[in-house]
Amino acid sequence: VSSTPMVLNSIAAFSPALRRRPHNSHKGSYGDVVVLGGAAGMSGAVILSARTAAKCGAGRVFVASIADTPAYDSQQPELMCRAAADIDFSGRTTVAGPGMGTSRQAHDLLAQALATQAPLVLDADALNLISEEPALRHKLQSRRAPALLTPHPLEAARLLGTTTEQVQANRIDAARTLATTLHAVVVLKGSGSVIASPDGRIAINPTGNPALATAGSGDVLSGVCGALLGQQWPIWEAALAAVWLHGAAADELVRRGIGPIGVVASELIPEIRALLNRL
Ligand code: AMP
Ligand code: MG
Repeated sequence: VSSTPMVLNSIAAFSPALRRRPHNSHKGSYGDVVVLGGAAGMSGAVILSARTAAKCGAGRVFVASIADTPAYDSQQPELMCRAAADIDFSGRTTVAGPGMGTSRQAHDLLAQALATQAPLVLDADALNLISEEPALRHKLQSRRAPALLTPHPLEAARLLGTTTEQVQANRIDAARTLATTLHAVVVLKGSGSVIASPDGRIAINPTGNPALATAGSGDVLSGVCGALLGQQWPIWEAALAAVWLHGAAADELVRRGIGPIGVVASELIPEIRALLNRL
């Protein structure tokens, strides 16, 4: 496998993973996704990620809230909102981290999610918990099922025990080191996101623009990742497609004169869905 960075300038890199929907398919064909997060004061993050997962084709989406569990999402009543303590993670793709906090309860729930045999996306505080707790890091490293990590530069620096400046000075090396040491596919976010696989593959994503520099943008990306993994995309192609689509959605909003100023993360969701249907 080549470790020369590949610029993701063609969807051919991931489009073979796109499967058309068979006529006789049903919601069970497209996977259950659990989004785990939503500590007190941060419910929005878990809702954004879950709404994205639903609009990117997941069969069923569960919101697993650590605090302030809403009865349902009035804007998207299709989401199944549960207290995180009542969620069964087994066999379900899990996105852990959006607004999760780093409480003891968050730690214990993350340990449960790491113990499954299903695909796992780790973002935000799930990454911070892994930085702080060697036992969780070890659980990640020894996991059999695929894991996809989506750190921004500060989260990557915490995982590596270095500074944001060091990460940004050599983004490819940082992503590669994280992928090989944590045995996970890693998306190092930011302008020109770097995607690295433990087998040495590296890709750089050219889509996206500063419209994405807004709260909740990363939560939307995690939801796209969860949806594609839930639909059984192979992890490398899922990571490439999610990052490409997320950036391309922002590019489309700019093209239409809606951004880059003042785009909010939830506006990306219908654009990503439209792009996904046109791939
Ligand atoms: P987060 O910091 O977790 O909210 O994630 C921000 C998301 O927006 C990531 O997917 C970044 O790659 C993306 N992003 C932020 N700023 C830019 C930028 N200037 N150009 C391209 N993508 C960006
Ligand atoms: Mg984030």
